[in-house]
Amino acid sequence: MKTGAPLPDLCFDNAWVRELPTDPEMAVYPRQVQRALHSMVKPTPVAEPRLVAHSAEVAEILGFGEDGVRSRHFADVFAGNALMPGMQPMATNYGGHQFGNWASQLGDGRAISLGEVVNDSGRRLELQLKGAGITPYSRFADGRAVMRSSIREFLCSEAMHHLGVPTTRALCLVATGESVERDMFYDGNPKPEPGAVLCRVAPSFTRFGHFELPAARGDIGLLETLVDFTIRRDFPRLVGTAQQKRADWFAAVCGQTAELVAHWMRVGFVHGVLNTDNMSILGLTIDYGPYGWLDNFDPDWTPNTTDRQHRRYRFGQQPRIAHWNLACLAQALAPLFGEIEPLQEGLRRHAERYSACERRDIAGKLGLLECRDEDVDLMQWLHLLMTSAEIDMTMFFRRLSDVAAGDLAAEAFSDAFYDEAKRGRMQGELEAWLMRYRQRLAEDERSDAARCQAMRAVNPKFVLRNWLAQMAIDQAQAGDESEIHRLLEVMRRPYDEQPGMESYCARRPDWARQRAGCSMLSCSS
Ligand code: AMP
Ligand code: MG
Repeated sequence: MKTGAPLPDLCFDNAWVRELPTDPEMAVYPRQVQRALHSMVKPTPVAEPRLVAHSAEVAEILGFGEDGVRSRHFADVFAGNALMPGMQPMATNYGGHQFGNWASQLGDGRAISLGEVVNDSGRRLELQLKGAGITPYSRFADGRAVMRSSIREFLCSEAMHHLGVPTTRALCLVATGESVERDMFYDGNPKPEPGAVLCRVAPSFTRFGHFELPAARGDIGLLETLVDFTIRRDFPRLVGTAQQKRADWFAAVCGQTAELVAHWMRVGFVHGVLNTDNMSILGLTIDYGPYGWLDNFDPDWTPNTTDRQHRRYRFGQQPRIAHWNLACLAQALAPLFGEIEPLQEGLRRHAERYSACERRDIAGKLGLLECRDEDVDLMQWLHLLMTSAEIDMTMFFRRLSDVAAGDLAAEAFSDAFYDEAKRGRMQGELEAWLMRYRQRLAEDERSDAARCQAMRAVNPKFVLRNWLAQMAIDQAQAGDESEIHRLLEVMRRPYDEQPGMESYCARRPDWARQRAGCSMLSCSS
């Protein structure tokens, strides 16, 4: 199957490397890098590259044909064993606030950008390997990634895209043929695990932490260079004086971040590690680690065991954390703004935009033509009900999108409950809510058919439930990778009915309740 078919000539325009200050030191050893935004560093070759999966759509956007993808050379390039003409591999320098505390320099410890492709339609897309070996920012770690977390990132970033949630995407997943040692539970029992390299793709991988680091070091010149570069490359639509553009840029970042978090809340996604170094300046979901999907609705849930005590990054707190992270960014940018008013204005924009998105999504999820104040209360009531009754979020909203108003009775939702006793206890409450909801629907002039159709476009039937990804991982580790491809296929059409695929939209099975990788994920990846 692997042939010598040549890869296409991609057009690389590596603006970041060309326009921003480079670290003059070429040797690769852990260090503090001052006055530069990246270090040139080549991926470390691996033993035996083998393509495990790829996204055909992303390959096509970039200009790779199926033959190219299946060639030996493709796996070599995306494992880090070879470069295509025009690639200039480098790792970027950033800092960040981790779990509320300033963590100083972090940087791409295992991410290596290969270059920025400009495709035939003029779209700029940066290619970045994750797990490609050590960089000057690797600190004490090995620069590698394990297959299990790479499968999770590969599948989830593609699933998110198809759900309509802004995200980095994935071109391909390559097995390295090497093992990586990981102490998955941080209990002193490291084990060898299969390694992988993921190639992710985005118009920009710039993070809040890229601005925070020069600001924290008092390197205002570097900060200014990066801000102006970002506006030029990533926000070309902004016009006006330099000061005006900076103010509008910060407001745009605030608005996009609000949109992003609202989408997460709509689909039941918990990022798990919302440190400022994991916040994209374009409002993309970035750095898939111990993320998770709600099964039973629970605003206090976090999949991240590292965050179990304080639950800083729990589902229901994501909007507040996004605001906190934007405030960190504002503080970093303050030296470039004569007055703080434009920054405060941006933060206000965030709050306003978030609440507008929230109202839009309340109307969308409940199938109402508009969201009135009392509808916010109706949704709040439903959230409380779903939490105490342990109702599956995705199943509930999808069922609500399928049933004619006249048939909305508690029995229609029986299979969305996780606990029979709670189902019995909460039956009356659910009937009461449904009655109020039916009355509210009656106030809108819209047919059941039209309402259901609109609701099915915002309430997904299929999300990448933690246990689904874990099954694909378990099977891959037993030698059968077909489930990765099947899941990718199902997650490409999350709002479609897809008859025959019921097992992919079922309630979490009991075995997954307390299983590592399903309800408990660590940052070990
Ligand atoms: P994360 O928790 O994945 O967002 O990573 C936080 C920081 O640790 C970033 O600077 C990463 O590049 C770095 N990092 C995480 N895992 C590794 C690894 N295996 N090798 C080197 N650096 C890593
Ligand atoms: Mg990160």
